[in-house]
Amino acid sequence: MFDASPMATADTRAVHAGRDDLAALGVHVPPIDLSTTNPLPSVDAGGDAYELLATGGPLSPGHTPVYQRLWNPTVARFETALAELEHTGAAVAFASGMAALTATLLAATRDGQRHIVAVRPLYGGTDHVLATGLLGTEVTWAHADQVAHAVRPDTALVIVETPANPTLDLVDIAALATAAGDVPLLVDNTVATPVLQQPARHGAALVLHSATKSIGGHGDVLAGVVACDEPWATRLRQVRALTGAILHPLGGYLLHRGLQTLPVRVRAQQAGAQKIAAWLAAHPAVTAVHHPGSTDPHGLVGRQMSGTGSLLAFELRGGAPAAEAVAGACRLITHAVSLGGVDTLIQHPASLTHRPVAGDAKPAAALLRISVGLEDPEDLCDDLAQALASVTG
Ligand SMILES: *Cc1c(COP(=O)(O)O)cnc(C)c1O
Repeated sequence: MFDASPMATADTRAVHAGRDDLAALGVHVPPIDLSTTNPLPSVDAGGDAYELLATGGPLSPGHTPVYQRLWNPTVARFETALAELEHTGAAVAFASGMAALTATLLAATRDGQRHIVAVRPLYGGTDHVLATGLLGTEVTWAHADQVAHAVRPDTALVIVETPANPTLDLVDIAALATAAGDVPLLVDNTVATPVLQQPARHGAALVLHSATKSIGGHGDVLAGVVACDEPWATRLRQVRALTGAILHPLGGYLLHRGLQTLPVRVRAQQAGAQKIAAWLAAHPAVTAVHHPGSTDPHGLVGRQMSGTGSLLAFELRGGAPAAEAVAGACRLITHAVSLGGVDTLIQHPASLTHRPVAGDAKPAAALLRISVGLEDPEDLCDDLAQALASVTG
């Protein structure tokens, strides 16, 4: 049986986590439990389990899960595995990354503290939900260096994304956790993945993923997950049980399977991204390439993040018209939003993923973002060469 000892490398944990009991069950892959309801052993046993789960407790051995909105064993396996990779005590999965963020905001503000300090740039949807105050929060946007000043007695959460999407700016998580003081720090780790960075080890209380991206990795599951300690997980599960933004068990199964190949995919996609970043930097139509570490004054690549990942962005001399033309002229690379999958995608953040972001914080109009997949990087460069030729003549 797999022993989840800290000695096991991340690659080994990725393959075996959340599967400890399979041999005893006599199966090789996790069973998928699609039950929306479960037979109750008795009114008392069902009622006890209901009470426990509806207040966010984890299912204890021998209890019935009662109802799928309260608990699902297939989703729970994925959560166990993800928590192991993020070095947290627990994880809670949701129907999307935005559902995970919504639950986190509701859980963090439930005692009446409604102030959020957020470091831009953030994913456009996150920026939008905070800027609109749709969930009753009030946001202060702060540069990473000013977070300690921005924190107030009623601050519920500090939010950051590193590397940031789409500029790939890096923020020092440990320094930010210190600046946040007693206020919990949420790090969106979607771009780095737990393979390259485990924010909880640097002081983050909550680690959020759009699991739709690298964790699923194949563009066929929409999901979110928050890795955290057990007290936070209890609050998040209560919000999930009451509001219903649960992950479907088939999604839980696919994400759990996705974790097994996550380390190899991330490393291969990262190697491709490095080649493409170097190729773009030498192209006359390109004025800037953004890649984690391209500016890294605090030396965070190697210390906080073990690699540079699969996402990059570049700016075109011809501005927005050139960027739009290049996105449309790619043939092998798909013109589409999203990131982290096995196939390469290109998109124009100012028009799409970061469209709702306020003018001064919006990504440059000349900027295109590429999520590098598993294709041969030379084929990807050939495609970019023909697309760039269409704007440079
Ligand atoms: C996509 C994304 C989200 C939102 O996740 P969904 O699964 O689309 O709801 C949040 N953060 C980052 C960094 C993302 O890329």
